[in-house]
Amino acid sequence: MDQANVLIIGGGVVGCATAYALSQHWQDVFLVEQNPRVGMATSSRNSGVIHSGIYYQKDSLKARHCVAGNRMMYEFCEKHKVPYRHCGKLVVAANAQEEEDLAALKTRGEDNGVDGLRLVDGTEIRAREPYIRGVAALDVPSTGIVSAEDLVRTYARLATEKGAHVVTRAKVVALEPKGETIRVRLRIGDKEDAQDETIEARCVINAAGLYSDEIAALLGNHSWKIYPLRGEYCEIRGPRAYLINALVYPMPHHHGLSLGVHFTKTLWGTVLLGPTAIYVEGKENYERGRLGIADFVKGAKAMLPEVEESDLQLGYSGLRPKLVPPGATDAHGDFVIMRDPKVPRAIQLVGIESPGLTSAPAIAEHVFQLVGEILN
Ligand SMILES: Cc1cc2nc3c(=O)[nH]c(=O)nc-3n(C[C@H](O)[C@H](O)[C@H](O)COP(=O)(O)OP(=O)(O)OC[C@H]3O[C@@H](n4cnc5c(N)ncnc54)[C@H](O)[C@@H]3O)c2cc1C
Repeated sequence: MDQANVLIIGGGVVGCATAYALSQHWQDVFLVEQNPRVGMATSSRNSGVIHSGIYYQKDSLKARHCVAGNRMMYEFCEKHKVPYRHCGKLVVAANAQEEEDLAALKTRGEDNGVDGLRLVDGTEIRAREPYIRGVAALDVPSTGIVSAEDLVRTYARLATEKGAHVVTRAKVVALEPKGETIRVRLRIGDKEDAQDETIEARCVINAAGLYSDEIAALLGNHSWKIYPLRGEYCEIRGPRAYLINALVYPMPHHHGLSLGVHFTKTLWGTVLLGPTAIYVEGKENYERGRLGIADFVKGAKAMLPEVEESDLQLGYSGLRPKLVPPGATDAHGDFVIMRDPKVPRAIQLVGIESPGLTSAPAIAEHVFQLVGEILN
């Protein structure tokens, strides 16, 4: 039986960033991922936006980790040559009412420690984004975009170079706390030739994304239920991608379900339009009952009148691990990051929805502190 100081469940951006942070300090760090490669779930099915932290409630984990993660992300990408662009974004008000809300958004961002926020008028919008319609906007210069897949792979590679063991096709099927350790049962390999193995870990980190409620339940903690909230994208490829230069967002939904369908000029020169927000049954349900292209057109035209249905192609989709059930009037919620009250050698990371990609390096530092309490 292998012995581990730390075993991380889940090779998304959070698990891989955590493996990277922990491997700088501890030996025998294991990361287990059920898929054939790291980063195949939510971490590669998002907008790839390095968020600034303007939206989140003051002092929430989302606000703190997003603002810190934003700075750490740019430094990391620069140092390790992960493709990114520090392009800034505009949050656009469509009318006078939304213009009033922009000022409140600016104040919230400033309270969270976001630098450089400015209210700009229609003339400046047109200078930066000539095809966008809006009466005013919030300029958010610290926002950018990153290649999420490269980011996850880079974290995993650097962790491995520091001695961490990244094991793919390894699904955690049982967890048994045993005094000073937690016994982790794994099913390794593909269905036909899968083998069961056991690792005894001094500390276990639940970074299982959409399945983090189920991993917590394996530890006897039934506090959480994840409701998958699907976000679907359309894409503008080819010459008409000139319609957008950087990042353009509408005002966020008041109910907190999502930041609204926005335009993202990708690192590859295409434009993403999305994500939508619709609760679905099933944690692998990326395609069943998807919207059609026509469903995107009206919303897109409200901000970008020049866009035509023929410019759009259906893109990918992703599933947000929401802790708030369908129908709730306030769907904002916060990340859960804590040592389990009943199993103190387990660290629970639950509900790591947006801005989880941006926050990953700061979440990893937070987990590093918690692991220190357990191992030192
Ligand atoms: C549509 C959409 C748009 C988004 N846009 C942004 C954005 O622009 N900016 C931003 O900051 N954030 C964004 N996010 C949020 C961000 O993508 C997530 O917060 C982040 O990717 C979560 O990473 P994770 O590592 O926690 O989860 P995941 O990437 O889901 O990783 C969890 C991993 O655990 C593995 N796993 C699960 N169960 C087991 C098991 N039993 N055994 C072994 N492995 C297991 C899974 O296979 C998976 O690979 C967006 C999310 C969505 C859905």
